Amino acid sequence: MKNYDVVIVGAGPVGLAIAVGLKACGIDNFMVLDQTTEFRRVGQVIDLLPNGLKALKSLDDCAYKAVKQSGLDFSQQTKNSQDQKNAKWVQRNFKGEEIQSFPLSYDTWLAEYGEGRVSIPWYDLQTTLRQQLPPEQVQANHRCVNLSKETATGTIRLDFLSNTAKGINPYAHWSSPPEPSPGSESQPEASTSLRAKLVVAADGINSTIRRLLYQNTPYEILGEPDYSGFAGIYCLQIEDNLPDELKTEIQEKFLQQDRLVTVTTQKVNSIQDLRIVIFGVKNSWRYFIHLPIEQEKLAGKTSEDLVGLVLEALTQDDFPEAIKQLVTFSVRSQMKSRLFYIHRATLDDSLKFPDTTNLKPCLAQQLPWSRGRVVLVGDAAHGMPPFLAQGANQGLEDALVISTLIARLINSNLLSEEEAIADIFHTYESLRRPLMEKVQQATLDRTSYYQGEQLTTYQQQVYNRDFHQLKASFV
Ligand SMILES: Cc1cc2nc3c(=O)[nH]c(=O)nc-3n(C[C@H](O)[C@H](O)[C@H](O)COP(=O)(O)OP(=O)(O)OC[C@H]3O[C@@H](n4cnc5c(N)ncnc54)[C@H](O)[C@@H]3O)c2cc1C
Repeated sequence: MKNYDVVIVGAGPVGLAIAVGLKACGIDNFMVLDQTTEFRRVGQVIDLLPNGLKALKSLDDCAYKAVKQSGLDFSQQTKNSQDQKNAKWVQRNFKGEEIQSFPLSYDTWLAEYGEGRVSIPWYDLQTTLRQQLPPEQVQANHRCVNLSKETATGTIRLDFLSNTAKGINPYAHWSSPPEPSPGSESQPEASTSLRAKLVVAADGINSTIRRLLYQNTPYEILGEPDYSGFAGIYCLQIEDNLPDELKTEIQEKFLQQDRLVTVTTQKVNSIQDLRIVIFGVKNSWRYFIHLPIEQEKLAGKTSEDLVGLVLEALTQDDFPEAIKQLVTFSVRSQMKSRLFYIHRATLDDSLKFPDTTNLKPCLAQQLPWSRGRVVLVGDAAHGMPPFLAQGANQGLEDALVISTLIARLINSNLLSEEEAIADIFHTYESLRRPLMEKVQQATLDRTSYYQGEQLTTYQQQVYNRDFHQLKASFV
């Protein structure tokens, strides 16, 4: 059985960024393992905002430059440079009047917050980070299924299964698992085990390690991701035969000169208020909508049902006829839905979160992000719906803090000292949890955070921090 200083479970953006951070600090004895049978193009496009990019830059300048370039190259594929400069995401009311807008170009964010913003497909982010690491230290086809403490050696034993297509994370990716190759169903799953002094659980919102960590503790119920109360319904293609009249109305009234528009009521009052986001790129249109909906109502729905649900919601909120008509032209095979889950950073009842009744037994306790030699990071610690585009960005902040602290521990030869380990995990949590509470609250409470002074305060608090100073405060 191989022994490592650090095993990182999950080669998503956060697990890989931590590995990059360790390498940058001169730590070599680590391994990153992922359940996916092979690294392949899955996942959505995500926005990296100033805080995530600043964290990455402080973590490793080469990785930052490569990720930034990859994001800029991605934008270049769809827009010319003038378009890129002026691109914005506009929010319009039912009459087509602008309520507010957010710039999309790297430079505008750079001028405002000292760092820009790029969009990048999840897979490109994964690949770019993976390329910063020695290939033999990032391996696919290892699904972690168990952890156990080995007191005699002061290590954690991790057990993995390989050659399995069933382990694809249903929460993190769009695509369905690849078809198993003929005969593979009958192949036995190979198992491997290894030992680590520290385990970093970066295995996403549906984290196996989180479940194992909270098993037989008062937090057991919180091992599972909790439904946030919201789902996304996505139409990835509108039919080509959209009547000209309708096309003109959507273009001239709502999209106008922009490619991305949110249509909503006059004033955004609450998270419950419906918003539909329409993309219009080169005559290829698509949309998505975030619905407050009971989980059960989406179970077993066909594509036709999904279109029906969107239309029902739009009708209920008196959306303009043109928008409803657009939805009727959804290509049925291109309809997708996704339930949004959350691991709450706080269980404080006073926050305006969706119903927390089922969590009442745990409310008295603060949920820890670590136990012994195991620590949770990224979505495994605090995954949330993507309404403020902060999941990966917050994960990159985790990566900066935890990789720096772990490297310091290893460089000080303190890997055998349980107290020193508890100490760094405590520092990590006390640095990260207060901000996560704010970000999650803002994500689920549009009332206060999507407009006016509070929006500005939120943007300043989240985007405008000095990460070199932050790093200096705990190094
Ligand atoms: C529709 C949508 C839009 C989003 N938009 C944005 C955005 O604009 N900006 C933003 O910052 N964030 C966004 N997010 C959130 C972002 O994608 C996540 O926060 C981010 O990917 C979390 O990174 P992670 O590495 O913690 O987890 P993940 O990205 O989920 O990666 C976890 C990895 O662990 C692996 N894994 C899982 N279980 C095991 C196991 N048992 N053993 C081994 N490996 C395992 C998985 O295969 C996966 O590779 C969005 C999310 C969604 C769903």
